Amino acid sequence: APGLYLVATPIGSARDITLRALDILASADTIAAEDTRTARHLMELHGIKARGRRIVAYHDHSSEGDRARLLGLVRDGGSVACVSEAGTPLVADPGYRLVKDAVAEGLPVTAAPGPSAALAALSVSGLPSDRFLFAGFPPSKGAERRKVLEELANIPSTLVLYESPRRIKGLLADLVDIAGADRKAAICRELTKRFEEVIRGTLAELAEAVPDKGLRGEVVLVLDRPLARPIDQEEVDAALLDALERLPMKAAASE
Ligand code: SAM
Repeated sequence: APGLYLVATPIGSARDITLRALDILASADTIAAEDTRTARHLMELHGIKARGRRIVAYHDHSSEGDRARLLGLVRDGGSVACVSEAGTPLVADPGYRLVKDAVAEGLPVTAAPGPSAALAALSVSGLPSDRFLFAGFPPSKGAERRKVLEELANIPSTLVLYESPRRIKGLLADLVDIAGADRKAAICRELTKRFEEVIRGTLAELAEAVPDKGLRGEVVLVLDRPLARPIDQEEVDAALLDALERLPMKAAASE
């Protein structure tokens, strides 16, 4: 059927792709891929002939013209499958502008959902999953990063961040300062791959566990929400005494 299809692809293990995603890749008129080589490789791996297929590069830096051409194909009744390098398109990956323009034109847009590192990390983190905020990559520069983390650290939701393995140590150090050494977190590394690893602990423990040179592979950081302030019994007693002292004495006098 004509339309723009957003097709999720594996984040590691090549078999993490849905049957419907494969059907769409096998039948789409055009495949718009962030990396055409990765897309070809994935198709060949699953027995879909890539040779002779129209596979064009589409990424964040693609021009208005490239976008207009792809949407023109859909407008003319064609099907365009959009795939990113890994995982779900638009999730810290290209695709947003294409979808925005397609929606503005009233063209059909469909998702073929599948893997995303954010959800995979949230699900294995052991942290509350009822309400979470995906905040993508924090800024790489110190001052900007701290500003963003200060905004995020007090939001009462589990926080999911992408980060480069080289910068994870610096991110953890900033978070110890901003969110507190005792806040729980999980580093989810190389999910679905051979060296998959989840390191769970407090921010201080995780900062300690990461070597100065950083980690290897791809990582997601999941951060617990701020703790509700614990009840301070002394504070409660003092407030009660204070309230008692303010009570009118009439009641006691009339007994
Ligand atoms: N669109 C992708 C998705 O849906 O997850 C994300 C693309 S983003 C450019 C790449 C980042 O995703 C990496 O830097 C890392 O933070 C995270 N990531 C991707 N694959 C991962 C994996 N297998 N394990 C851990 N993190 C991963």
